[in-house]
Amino acid sequence: MSFSSLVQDLSLRDAIAPRRRGDASTSTVISAMDDRASRTSHISRAMSYASTAATSVSISGDISSQLHSGYSHPLARSWQAERQLTKSMLIYPLFISDQDDEEVLVPSLPNQCRRGLNKVIPFLEPLVNKGLRAVMLFGVPLRPGTKDALGTSADDPEGPVIRAIRALRQRFPHLYICADVCLCEYTSHGHCGILRDDGSLNNQLSVDRISDVAIAYARAGAHCVAPSDMNDGRIRAIKLKLIEEGIAHNVTLMSYAAKFSGCLYGPFRDAAGSVPSFGDRRCYQLPPGGRGLARRAIVRDINEGADIIMVKPAGQYLDIISDAKELGKDLPIAAYQVSGEFAMIHAGAKAGVFDLKAMAFESTEGILRAGATIVVSYFAPEFLDWLSD
Ligand SMILES: [Zn+2]
Repeated sequence: MSFSSLVQDLSLRDAIAPRRRGDASTSTVISAMDDRASRTSHISRAMSYASTAATSVSISGDISSQLHSGYSHPLARSWQAERQLTKSMLIYPLFISDQDDEEVLVPSLPNQCRRGLNKVIPFLEPLVNKGLRAVMLFGVPLRPGTKDALGTSADDPEGPVIRAIRALRQRFPHLYICADVCLCEYTSHGHCGILRDDGSLNNQLSVDRISDVAIAYARAGAHCVAPSDMNDGRIRAIKLKLIEEGIAHNVTLMSYAAKFSGCLYGPFRDAAGSVPSFGDRRCYQLPPGGRGLARRAIVRDINEGADIIMVKPAGQYLDIISDAKELGKDLPIAAYQVSGEFAMIHAGAKAGVFDLKAMAFESTEGILRAGATIVVSYFAPEFLDWLSD
């Protein structure tokens, strides 16, 4: 309805109203009172029309432009979001070292520690009690001699990830355990696969190895294996091996399908000790402008059997999250707010640019709005408190 037609309707109603009163009334006193009330009403309506008319430029004469009514109340504001952050949407990344008693702050990743198994369980206890539902494990082998060209220690039964999976399953039976699957923490060269002599990735050997590691984590009890290596075809290889092992039905396969290269992973590499010793990862991680490439990778990984599609990083790639939601509309979409994003938010808050909690929520709500229903976030411990308030 246009604003002018609304005004016409009201005027017509007012023109009819006095005649109806005259027909029904038998008392001149009441009639006089009615007339006064009617005049007052006309005056207030006239003022109302005048004030509305004065703002008619801003509302373009169209009543559908009136939006404030829908979000004036805090509860109504929250209803405007398609999905709201809940504790069960969060996955908390954990860096597990092979030094069982270690607990070391990662300098570039505010408030985040690398922990050995003996420290990680007491650390998680209060978080699980507050409602933490899922973690993502990253192994950090520190012992000398554990790294080689093939990443042999990635699936060492005595390595940090497999031992952590077993211990956490036992200690926290309701905690959902995701295991990141990659070789870069375990290779002497720091790349995410096995290399050819010329230093480039040997995709076939890498996929064979990565899929073996994924199966080892799944057999140890991981609820979810999440290959982040970006080798072509690894989702299909892992899915087939899970089927062969007879465990495909209860192991979720989460693909880092759209993982972009860039400078937001610095603090993570400090934490995980996974800086490449030469070159970079541009030949296998996606170029930041590669939206079409990301869409192809997402479609490929869905077709290869991924149960969940992940986009990483999150904040700079909201269009890709939206694409993933569109292409994988029947799949859960995860987004990883990476170490650099987390560190930037902390730095901004520390510099007084914004409030930490407000920006943590705002950045995460943007990720959810774009289409994610799972957020891998270093803010998980804080959100457990904030969402309880
Ligand atoms: Zn890697």
